[in-house]
Amino acid sequence: MKHYKMMKKLLLVSILLLLIVGTVLAYSTTFSSNPIKSEKIKVVATFYPLAYLAEKIGGERVSVYTLIPYNVEVHNWQPSPSDIMTIENSDIIILNGAGLDWWFESEILPLINISGKIIVNTTEGLPLILHNNQYDPHTWLSPYMAKLQAEKILSALIKKDPLGEKYYKERFKEIESKLNEIDEKYLIELKNKKRDIIIVSHEAFGYLAERYGFKQIGIIGISAEEEPNPRLILEIIELMKKYNLTTLYFDPIYSDKYVKMIKNELENKLGINVNVLKIYLCLGPIDNKDYFEQLEENLESLKKGLVE
Ligand SMILES: [Zn+2]
Repeated sequence: MKHYKMMKKLLLVSILLLLIVGTVLAYSTTFSSNPIKSEKIKVVATFYPLAYLAEKIGGERVSVYTLIPYNVEVHNWQPSPSDIMTIENSDIIILNGAGLDWWFESEILPLINISGKIIVNTTEGLPLILHNNQYDPHTWLSPYMAKLQAEKILSALIKKDPLGEKYYKERFKEIESKLNEIDEKYLIELKNKKRDIIIVSHEAFGYLAERYGFKQIGIIGISAEEEPNPRLILEIIELMKKYNLTTLYFDPIYSDKYVKMIKNELENKLGINVNVLKIYLCLGPIDNKDYFEQLEENLESLKKGLVE
């Protein structure tokens, strides 16, 4: 009888012990992962190229959230209430500026508490191009401009997290030399052009055009969702004849319906083969290519239309 009582007591004690050990273990595992996560600098970037740069520079010290989903139309995008919550809980907000994330100032800024937050307009003070009295916002497609934007991200990270300065600077150096290398490649490989005009589905390549010495003509114009009108098609035919062009460029995120329509019409009316080449807007990973790989691929595509 006494023995049985002892056993029962022992069993109870061991169950209790197991419970305590279990709780402590569970507690410590959540805690061992959580503090690291919560200590990270919370960065919100409006769209992919900025998030890409912030991740490359910030590495393990940051967690980066991208507001605009990958590979969607960026010019007309607007935030949802949950996006506003995410922004409210962030430490650093990275904007493209130049009119791209226009909704930030009008729809988000009045709703959030900005104290303690750093808001970075990555194109502020940069040599922006004016297009029809508006700034051309497509800076990230130029490796040269992207490098200047990356510098702004670096400064913001150091300001928010001075202990990470050395870490961020080292990582930035890699980004900087990679972007310099791509810029250099563009400069050298687009030097001896046979043609200096490209026809594109979206006029997003103004910064490349300016730096590497060519012109862009948009089929759809500055907004990506307008249908080309017949007059515009005739205009393109005239331009293709005048400048002896055989190539059309389009970004694979958009439907190539219009481009194909134009290609067929041009081939009928001009009696030539018209090449349709990809040119990336770098709005998300696509075709298994990240931002840098898309910048590099764009050069290959431009070479085919301008140099070869
Ligand atoms: Zn655009």
